[in-house]
Amino acid sequence: MSCVFCRISAGDIPADVVHQTERVIAFRDLNPQAPTHVLVIPRAHFADAAALAAADPAYAGEVLAVAADVATKEGLSGGYRLVANTGADAGQTVDHLHWHLLGGRSLGWPPG
Ligand code: AMP
Ligand code: ZN
Repeated sequence: MSCVFCRISAGDIPADVVHQTERVIAFRDLNPQAPTHVLVIPRAHFADAAALAAADPAYAGEVLAVAADVATKEGLSGGYRLVANTGADAGQTVDHLHWHLLGGRSLGWPPG
């Protein structure tokens, strides 16, 4: 299995897991860009959000619900940002859908 996030999901690569369900796992980003920077992913491999939404819309909802649970657990009552970089122009480097959950500081807008 070559996909790094599939390997994290399977437990083959260690990760700092903050929340997991049967079909979703959330773990801290190795290179955090904010005090809270968690990646929330479907355990199953989908390239991007469109692929997941097309295959299983309820599953997309489960992933987003876990993101909201993590935000609550992390105490992000002041707000947070969910970002799914999609494709080269957005800088997607891992070809397994992941939502970045960022918070814990004032986040600028627009992004660079
Ligand atoms: P993206 O550029 O949107 O594809 O984001 C990929 C993210 O995955 C980056 O923020 C990386 O720091 C993060 N990342 C890559 N490998 C790992 C890993 N093994 N554990 C945790 N985060 C990782
Ligand atoms: Zn994968």
